[in-house]
Amino acid sequence: MPMPFVEILDSLALSKSELIERFEHLIAPKSDQELETMAQNSRALTLQNFGRTMRLFAPLYLSNECINNCQYCGFSRDNPILRVTLSVDEVLAEAQHLARQGFRQILLVAGEHPKFVNRDYLTECVRALAPDFSSISIEVGPMDTEDYVRIVDAGGEGLVVYQETYNRAVYAEMHTAGPKRDFNYRLDCAERGYAAGFRRLGIGALIGLSRWRDEAIALAAHLEYLFKHCWQAQITVSIPRLRPAAGGFRPLFSLTDRELVQFVCALRITFPQVGIVLSTRERGPLRDALGSIGITMMSAGSHTEPGGYTGQGREHVHRTVRGRIIAPEYQDGEDELATGQFEISDERSPAEIAAALRNRGLEPVWKDWDQALQGAAAS
Ligand code: SF4
Repeated sequence: MPMPFVEILDSLALSKSELIERFEHLIAPKSDQELETMAQNSRALTLQNFGRTMRLFAPLYLSNECINNCQYCGFSRDNPILRVTLSVDEVLAEAQHLARQGFRQILLVAGEHPKFVNRDYLTECVRALAPDFSSISIEVGPMDTEDYVRIVDAGGEGLVVYQETYNRAVYAEMHTAGPKRDFNYRLDCAERGYAAGFRRLGIGALIGLSRWRDEAIALAAHLEYLFKHCWQAQITVSIPRLRPAAGGFRPLFSLTDRELVQFVCALRITFPQVGIVLSTRERGPLRDALGSIGITMMSAGSHTEPGGYTGQGREHVHRTVRGRIIAPEYQDGEDELATGQFEISDERSPAEIAAALRNRGLEPVWKDWDQALQGAAAS
């Protein structure tokens, strides 16, 4: 039996592998010249492993119901926001809008509320979307392996679960109520997903909750572990910086643009084959620049509210109090759409983002060619 990652994480301060020691050196403060050299190495490795391509995907928010309280998230159960869970037909309508824009890779996102978003609902959503999308991933509350198996069988390809912070004390402080308080159950999620058959596994840390270099080392150790133990899966990593959201939480620690560039380069140099994801949380010019250095996958034209693309679900928007649905009394200026998870920064349309990528010599990839090629090879 391999040592579980939780044991590696808990002893990381005392013992690191050689790879993680090299990574630690890469994220230490650097001169401009040193950072430029890192960026050149990173660019060359990205080109070598991924070519001049950028996978484009869209998040599709299914529900903003949640039973957890996470201090940094607008969907927290105690926030009196407008909520909705889309029906499968409404999900399909949102997805068809995305398909018309060119997307074939989609990420289904939901808060954690088993009454509204459970295995059967997710299975139905994935099955309904499978004919139109070459890659469907989910980013929802952690589940057991048996539940994941059903979603994989319906056509689910990827599982994304960010640990948020790898610092247990900060994690306990940030997650004040709900099942998400179970740090270890979340930490094991990627392995349960792998056991269930997901072909893509995404992990990440939310930057702004603790010192970024500490998070980076833990995240890198997690990546090293998954590359060893889930080696048949494609692994992706994301390092979203906290954005303003309902509830008014402000990041406790900062990561400057320069440090973000260094972090991305260090990940690429240490893990040449890892997919690095960048969302619309970041500003357009920075995303464009990072696209040439190490990022391999981007969201585009995103909405973080359920129904945000086409207005689906408007008629049954409500507030939820202790699991009970309450008719909304709109406050002045409040829209009738459900509330989004956070504000986005890059508001360009998918077509504009694709054009910006081409201007930089990168080919936007809307469809999962890997899977198509694999199918061809198997037939
Ligand atoms: S981060 Fe996830 S679990 Fe926490 S409140 Fe937001 S949606 Fe719920």
